[in-house]
Amino acid sequence: MEPNTTNREDANQLATAPVAITRYGIPVRVSSATENGWEVFDPCGDLQTVSKIVPIENTQVVLDPGHGGKDSGAIGHAGLKESDVNLKVAVATSQLLQGKGFPTFLTRMSDYYISLDERIALADAANAKAFISIHHNAPASAASKTPGTEVFAQSKDSESARLSGLLHKEVFEALKGVEGVQWTSRWDAGALRVLNSQGSDAYRLVRKPETTNALIEVGYLSSPSEGGFMAKDEYVQIVALALATATETFLTTNENGTPLNERARIYNPSGGRTICPNVDLE
Ligand SMILES: [Zn+2]
Repeated sequence: MEPNTTNREDANQLATAPVAITRYGIPVRVSSATENGWEVFDPCGDLQTVSKIVPIENTQVVLDPGHGGKDSGAIGHAGLKESDVNLKVAVATSQLLQGKGFPTFLTRMSDYYISLDERIALADAANAKAFISIHHNAPASAASKTPGTEVFAQSKDSESARLSGLLHKEVFEALKGVEGVQWTSRWDAGALRVLNSQGSDAYRLVRKPETTNALIEVGYLSSPSEGGFMAKDEYVQIVALALATATETFLTTNENGTPLNERARIYNPSGGRTICPNVDLE
C-alpha cells in the first residue's frame, strides 16, 4: 500500500533519523513510514509496525549495555546480574555525556533480550562517532593489586585502538584509586585485541560494526569483593564518570591513553544460535 503524502514527508525527515524510541522505550531502527505508522526493526531484527516513535537525531555516542532479558550475563555476589549493572553504568554514562553536550543513544534501556546483530545494526544506523559496549567479567581471575579492566579494540582500526586506550586509562585509574576492594586480573589485561585462530577479531560485537568501537569489561563481577562494590551506586558513578571523561577526550582530542598490548589474546568463541524472544514495542 502506498503511504499518503503526509507520511511520505515524515519519511523524508527520517532520512536523518534512522533510529528512534518506541512508546515502551525500546530503541529501534526505522525502516519506513506506513499508512498505520512506522515500520521498524525490533530487538530481534524483525520488522514490526508501530503507531508512534520518537526519532533520535545527531547521535555522537552509542552506548551498548551488554546482555539483558533471558541472557543475564555474569552472575555476581548475592545474585547481582551483569545485565543490570551494565545498564546502570550505561544510563549514568549517557546522562553525563548528554550533560556535556554529546547526544547519546542506548541500544537497550530496560531488561530484555536484544540480538548481537541488532545491537551492531542500531549502532551503525545511528551513524555515531563511537560505539561502546559495556560488560562485567567472569569467572574470577587471579588476585591482583590493580583492577583487571580490559578493553577490546577492533584490529586494524587506529581510532578503535585510541578509543579503547582512553577508556582503559580512565576506568583503570578511577578504580585503582578505590580503597578496600580486592581486585582480580588476567596477566594480559589492558587495552588489547582478541583474535581467533584465523586472525580475525574474535568477538562479533567488535569485528562487525562499521562505527569506531570498543568493548569494555570493567572488572570482575564474579569476584566477591569486586561484585560487592559493583552493587553500590558509588561504583556506578565512579565508572560512569570515567567512561564519560574518556569518551569526551576521544571526541575532542587526539590523545591515545593506554597503548594497545603488542601481543593479541587468542580466543575462539563457541557461538551458538539462540532464540530471540519477542519484545512489545508499544
Ligand atoms: Zn558480558
